[in-house]
Amino acid sequence: MRFDIVTIFPAMIEHALTVGVVGRAIAQGALQVRVRDLRDFTSDRHHVVDDVPYGGGPGMVLKPEPLLRAVDAVEGEGGVRPVVILASPQGSRLTQEVVRRLSRLSHLVVLCGRYEGVDERVRSRVDEEISIGDYVLSGGELPALVIVDAVARLVPGVVGDQQSVAEESFSRGLLDFPQYTRPAAIGDVGGAMAVPEVLLSGNHGEIRRWRKRAALVRTLDRRPDLLATAVLDDEEREILRGLLAERKEG
Ligand code: SAH
Repeated sequence: MRFDIVTIFPAMIEHALTVGVVGRAIAQGALQVRVRDLRDFTSDRHHVVDDVPYGGGPGMVLKPEPLLRAVDAVEGEGGVRPVVILASPQGSRLTQEVVRRLSRLSHLVVLCGRYEGVDERVRSRVDEEISIGDYVLSGGELPALVIVDAVARLVPGVVGDQQSVAEESFSRGLLDFPQYTRPAAIGDVGGAMAVPEVLLSGNHGEIRRWRKRAALVRTLDRRPDLLATAVLDDEEREILRGLLAERKEG
């Protein structure tokens, strides 16, 4: 899978792409990410990428031509026509479902806005506008990294253990179960500082059931809205019925 990210701050993105799961995937060739400096697509001596808004008002707007030329340049490199995404607080919200759909594409271009945003005419070349949440950031670079990271994890070969991707929060509509690692107890305090006994038991059937129950409890407590569309197996449905009955009584 290939990404091209168009930005006026390549350095902000480049370092983040060298670490962790995404960094390893790029090093191994499972993922190709090119960071394009918007200034390389200007035609004037001073490499100007922004200008004042028509109609007045505060701030600057990213000029249309450099962004349009950047899209042209990426498309001109051949291959399947890429899907062009504009990072925008006005876009549709990025969810795991959207991430899943994007992960099936072979080539994405992500345009990063800055200042007051981008000239409206750029939208004519954009296939999708994506927002990473209902808040305003100062640029599209963090959203671009969020999109690359979330999408890349679903590309085969990027996360070593595909089971971890299949089981984590949102993949089936449930939040993940709590995780513990050594030590089994911290100091000599018991209670909340002790690892649940069942996880130390080596009984895989019981551990599986405990985890399913814990994931359902979490989801019920924190995001009950997710349960409406969650994909549950028979065992989980049974556990959920029990939990709901308990709560009705309590
Ligand atoms: N004035 C614009 C916001 C500009 S913020 C408006 O109200 O719509 C500058 C740039 O940051 C945007 O062009 C966009 O690329 C990026 N950005 C800011 N918040 C974002 C968000 N929640 N999701 C995705 N991109 C965002």
